[in-house]
Amino acid sequence: MYLSAANHRIPLSDGNSIPIIGLGTYADPSTSSKESCAASVKVAIDTGYRHIDGAYIYRNEHEVGDAIREKIAEGKVRREDIFYCGKLWVTNLDPERVRPTLEKTLKTLKLDYVDLYIIEMPMAFKAGDEIYPRDEDGKWLYHKLDLCATWEVECHPYFTQQKLLKFCQQHDIVIIAYSPLGTCRNPRWVNVSSPPLLKDAYLNSVGKKYNKTAAQVVLRFNIQRGVVVIPKSFNPERIKENFQIFDFSLTEEEMKEIEALNRNVRFVELFMWRDHPEYPFHDEY
Ligand code: NDP
Repeated sequence: MYLSAANHRIPLSDGNSIPIIGLGTYADPSTSSKESCAASVKVAIDTGYRHIDGAYIYRNEHEVGDAIREKIAEGKVRREDIFYCGKLWVTNLDPERVRPTLEKTLKTLKLDYVDLYIIEMPMAFKAGDEIYPRDEDGKWLYHKLDLCATWEVECHPYFTQQKLLKFCQQHDIVIIAYSPLGTCRNPRWVNVSSPPLLKDAYLNSVGKKYNKTAAQVVLRFNIQRGVVVIPKSFNPERIKENFQIFDFSLTEEEMKEIEALNRNVRFVELFMWRDHPEYPFHDEY
């Protein structure tokens, strides 16, 4: 499939389509300002991104919505050009809470609809307004639910997800790769004992060949095999850099070499919730 900066939507089995690169908008609220989030969404739309990955739990949906609407008001894009993905947080997984929670998100975004609404994590927590519910001893308050859910999948050259990708391709399912650059390595939720992806010698040597960075190589690797990527950056230069992946392609041999870098390293392990009865990562995919 030919992908370009101007036209990089890929088809979904229901007749809709999704831009193969999106801007990730999660940033640690204690170190990142809401203003930098809004500014980054605007830079991304000006750069050519048409897919924005957001969530209630990122606590910046208001700013993301403002930025999108500002670009629509300017005439830079139409609402239908933008693909917005929102997420249902784990304290709202009871069926009767889904619709009101989505409505709350729409109100915050000040948009009429989202293009995709997914379950943030397939592990239910006690329903209510407390987003990280614990008891008085600090123990997490889990919630039992008959959960039949689908969720995004971490995916990058150290965690290539070959088996899952093959299954999804056979069933016409598109994968969205979160943490496609190997995350921000925030020790609060990332396994930082794992090697930093973007320092990989092979990825850097391939980058040198094409005059690209390791980040551009890992993003190109995924889009070239049909996987949607949602790299997060709130840095204008890196937002642009991450979008400059349509003007080169990797050879078949390089694709294979990159696949072979797989180490089954999952950066986002969510280890603090490994005793949750629905903890998803005990299973192999
Ligand atoms: P990424 O793999 O996108 O990495 C983001 C980090 O890489 C940031 O520290 C960013 O810093 C840095 N970075 C960005 N571009 C470059 C570059 N070109 N060169 C070097 N460093 C770069 O990690 P995320 O975990 O944020 O994943 C992306 C998005 O996926 C999230 O923002 C979120 O939208 C979604 N997500 C969803 C999850 C879920 O459970 N549903 C879980 C995790 C993520 P800087 O901003 O300074 O550029």
